[in-house]
Amino acid sequence: MIGEQQAVETGNLIGGERRAGVSGRTFESRNPAHHGEIIGVFPQSSAADVDAAVVSAQRALAGWRSTPWPRRGEVILAAATIMEQRKEELARLMTREMGKVLTEARGDVQEAIDMGKFIAGEGRRAFGETVPSELRNKWAMTMRQPLGVIGCVTPWNFPIAIPSWKIFPALMAGNTVVFKPAEDTPLCALRFVEILEEAGVPAGVINTVFGNEEAGDAVVRHPGTVAIFFTGSADTGRLIAATCGSMLKKVSLELGGKNGIVVMDDADLELAVEGALWGAFGTAGQRCTASSRLIVQRKVLGDFTDALVSRTRALRIGNGLVDGVDVGPVINETQLRRIHSYTEIGVQEGATLLTGGEVARDGDLAEGFFYAPTVFAGVTPAMRIAQEEIFGPTTAILPVESLAEAITTANSTQFGLSLSIYTNDLRHAFLAIHELEAGIVYVNAPTIGAEIQLPFGGTKNTGNGHREAGGRVLDEFSEWKSIYIDYSGRLQRAQIDTDAQ
Ligand code: NAD
Repeated sequence: MIGEQQAVETGNLIGGERRAGVSGRTFESRNPAHHGEIIGVFPQSSAADVDAAVVSAQRALAGWRSTPWPRRGEVILAAATIMEQRKEELARLMTREMGKVLTEARGDVQEAIDMGKFIAGEGRRAFGETVPSELRNKWAMTMRQPLGVIGCVTPWNFPIAIPSWKIFPALMAGNTVVFKPAEDTPLCALRFVEILEEAGVPAGVINTVFGNEEAGDAVVRHPGTVAIFFTGSADTGRLIAATCGSMLKKVSLELGGKNGIVVMDDADLELAVEGALWGAFGTAGQRCTASSRLIVQRKVLGDFTDALVSRTRALRIGNGLVDGVDVGPVINETQLRRIHSYTEIGVQEGATLLTGGEVARDGDLAEGFFYAPTVFAGVTPAMRIAQEEIFGPTTAILPVESLAEAITTANSTQFGLSLSIYTNDLRHAFLAIHELEAGIVYVNAPTIGAEIQLPFGGTKNTGNGHREAGGRVLDEFSEWKSIYIDYSGRLQRAQIDTDAQ
């Protein structure tokens, strides 16, 4: 079997120690391309494990928050450098554990390296402001301070990149962390955290508890976590938001997407087809930014559809470690079933299934969770396959007559993460940039491909107004403190004692 290695067995990582779960229960991580291959065995953590992790993070807080910012930056840079040296090993592990093809797994690791290098620079750049006071002999300025112990709960689809988007800036700002990675990709999380330790993050500054929603919920509910950074489904996000709301706890939610590519009559059609193929079927469609709606103007509809279907049929499905494979497995059996149920829904709704629509079982594929890349045509905006996040290799073609209809259609979902337009008309491009309701807009590129130096996140039900990455990322992970220093030697009352008095 390709890439098979001995299964790893580990405990939680709390206070620099490996600790078995309190309940003694464990779970396995398995290769979605070869379900028989066990990647590792991890504790199924409960509230007691989370409590120990929070206590450890609280203990480590004073030392870490008082560590100079530039020193914290150096530790993060060291972690990014180690990741760079081990990029290939990490990427291969990710393909085994999560399934995405090796080139994409390398990209996932690279995104974390980029984030580490970018954030490390904040160590010498975390500026505050000095502003004039309205009174004489009074100084006014701001500085950043850490939030405290924060909880990070992450999904499996970017097993190293997403944790890095949260944990690097959290550590940079002087917070300590309780990290609950996804149950489908715990070994990627373990390796990431081990690299942080090796880079010099002190014991207790990052504490990792493995497990499922029970552990995630305990991280959210624990009174010791002062802020929660969550990426995952909208359903889970709503539950977490409700809990955090009732506890007055800061919460940042990065949730689902139903992202569309608009293809105008004047577009470079070949480029648009290539973009749609990558956007829809990259990571087997398991990206929050996946291009699951293709909104195509009528004049090019036939040519676009024909080209897309023939390119889709040519995609090679298989184990992502094999050269030339385009589409790897989906993450697990539940997800495989869910994806297929959407094919049945699409057919029942009257959409035309052009290709795919079935579990791929040829030869070795039967050992894993593979789904044939699927294209529906004749889809209308109200259909469930045009509205609900499928999170698999399924895309839907929606015909439109005009730019106005294209924009209305693109905006007609509950989500607002990423939208794109293919056009060679500058006017169309700028109108779309202004009118598309999404946190990220692409012109002549698909809905995937974010870079870490720009903010990442969405409008509407994709989140609750927060953004990760980008130049202002520290605003999410730190508090502003405003400082007034009165050196006049007398009581000066703001808004009351004017300079004339
Ligand atoms: P999920 O919501 O099922 O799980 C995400 C994480 O939350 C996991 O670690 C899980 O164990 C934990 N969890 C589950 N229930 C919980 C609860 N009640 N309380 C606390 N924690 C809980 O999502 P998933 O299936 O792992 O990931 C796929 C989803 O993530 C998709 O909807 C996708 O769009 C979204 N996603 C969003 C972004 C973004 O940045 N907007 C990026 C990647 C993925």
